[in-house]
Amino acid sequence: MNFEVVFLGTGAAVPSKTRGTTSQFVDIHGHTYLIDAGEGVQMAMRREGLRFQKLKGIFISHMHGDHVLGLPGLLSTMSLLGRRSPLNVWGPPVLESWLGETWRMIGAHHTFDILHHAWSPKDVVCLEMGNRHRLVSFPVKHRVDCCGLRIEEHSLPWTLQKGHPLFASLTHEERRRLKSGEAISRGGSALQPDMCCDPPPKARAYVYSADTRPSQRVKDQAEGAEVLYHDATFETSDAARAESTYHSTAAEAGRLASQAKVGTLVLGHISQRYKSTDALLAEARSYHGHVLVAEDGMKLSL
Ligand SMILES: [Zn+2]
Repeated sequence: MNFEVVFLGTGAAVPSKTRGTTSQFVDIHGHTYLIDAGEGVQMAMRREGLRFQKLKGIFISHMHGDHVLGLPGLLSTMSLLGRRSPLNVWGPPVLESWLGETWRMIGAHHTFDILHHAWSPKDVVCLEMGNRHRLVSFPVKHRVDCCGLRIEEHSLPWTLQKGHPLFASLTHEERRRLKSGEAISRGGSALQPDMCCDPPPKARAYVYSADTRPSQRVKDQAEGAEVLYHDATFETSDAARAESTYHSTAAEAGRLASQAKVGTLVLGHISQRYKSTDALLAEARSYHGHVLVAEDGMKLSL
């Protein structure tokens, strides 16, 4: 089952020649979501050949321009191209009225419904999809109200062993129950899933920290995740600036990833002040064994 993240914009507030502002595309089991929509998100999606008309939802972490200014343009284009299916948009409470005012000022007409869901400053399940994955938002520590996002698999199915002697005789309902991990009754005794099925694969999780200081909430949500994308705006030499602007250094991201025992740490929200990311990488690697620096257009399969 596919689970992939495409990093569309990996820079901090000011875009550079090589890094756009924040946006990510996530495909989990064929369901696609956008996390944040910085300016330039439409062209970035075009470059990567990603279909935005199929998006199930867009999650906006906070109301800073580098995370939200691409959203009105993207939604407008969806209408110009004739989208009909409703679109979930999760974001700060003020997002709906901000967009509403924008539509009113430019006289926009939409061909589809935008389903607004205001997140609140606590851990919230935004969406359970197909009973196989969910989106969970959680508050982080930024200058303004801001939420990170955990996208995780759950309740993955057991796989029936086709060579098992009972395979051909199982009814549709019996197959459904075994795949769900439930026992069925056979010959007066219980047939457990592990007697005729292969166990489900380990559920995977992708965690997006959003813009944040290192925080216990991020650490809790990142616990055991395959991939954590963490704010690493600054080098340690700029630690005071990281603190005053409510961002993180690469070393802080590395330390948190190590404490949370994540698989891969991806450093993101990279300041355009650094000509090279070598120091960011080295700082994070001094705490965590597997670290990547996000690049625009980079794809990662979980
Ligand atoms: Zn930002």
